[in-house]
Amino acid sequence: AAKEAGRRNYIFFDKNMNDIIVRKMKIQNSMKKAMENNEFSLHYQPQYEIASNRIRAFEALLRWNSPEHGFVSPADFIGIAESSGLIVPLGEWVLNEACDFIKHVIDMGHENISISVNVSVIQLMQEDFLSMVDGVLKNKGLKPSYLELEITESVLIENIDLNMKKIKELRELGVKISLDDFGTGYSSLTYLRELPIDVLKIDKSFIDNILSTGEKSGLAGSIISLAHDLGLEVVAEGVENEEQLKYLEWYNCDVVQGYLFSRPLPGEKAMKLIP
Ligand code: C2E
Ligand code: MG
Ligand code: MG
Ligand code: MG
Repeated sequence: AAKEAGRRNYIFFDKNMNDIIVRKMKIQNSMKKAMENNEFSLHYQPQYEIASNRIRAFEALLRWNSPEHGFVSPADFIGIAESSGLIVPLGEWVLNEACDFIKHVIDMGHENISISVNVSVIQLMQEDFLSMVDGVLKNKGLKPSYLELEITESVLIENIDLNMKKIKELRELGVKISLDDFGTGYSSLTYLRELPIDVLKIDKSFIDNILSTGEKSGLAGSIISLAHDLGLEVVAEGVENEEQLKYLEWYNCDVVQGYLFSRPLPGEKAMKLIP
């Protein structure tokens, strides 16, 4: 009967849907080889402290240049890597690479810049995630305070008790935790007070909504005030124009990141942004 239903369902697939599924399957297959073939790299985007104008951190962002598919966006492959489990070794590679980068920055004499690394909840759920992170830091000789882990809000809430425990352990290690894409998950406000985090990243959609009229309305300002009341540092992501920056300054947002300042860049170019 299941087969029947499957067959019946199939006739409702349109060509476009079929193309999407075939592409997903192809991407999943080529990702397996992509790690061995060194097709992944990291780009780094600076985060500027508004008050001092200095670079506070770089966010590491994964890039995949595939011989078969060309440049594939993380939006198109992170989900596939999560469902295939590849995100676990891939995420470990990202952490190692990102730590090498910041180690280099520190060795060049820039001792107050840290690295922010995106982490999937699938990674966080691994039994040995904490010891993996600890191992990488020790291996690189990097102080945990140089590392910040960004975890997307919406998925964090799904298994809140376990995730909270994991996050507490990471913080005890000395690693900072940042809640990414804040505002996109509907339970955010319920849990925000209890979440053991250091930084809140306001999702780009709220920055996009800042009016260019100079009018000080919009949700971003309220989110900043709320986060400050909870003692959190606030990062605005996806800042693209001066109006948005002015608004964020007016609301005492701590840190800004976006194309207005710099796109994510390969390591060598990112280094050149440091004065
Ligand atoms: P995210 O962590 O929220 O990263 C911010 C995304 O916004 C990045 O897209 C960045 O390139 C983009 N961005 C930054 N400034 C601007 C701007 O001013 N305008 C616009 N339009 N976009 C801006 P990217 O690099 O394509 O990454 C997309 C998402 O993929 C990330 O969102 C993150 O959730 C995920 N991702 C990227 N690298 C990794 C990784 O190493 N591990 C995991 N688990 N996820 C990753
Ligand atoms: Mg992020
Ligand atoms: Mg984000
Ligand atoms: Mg995002």
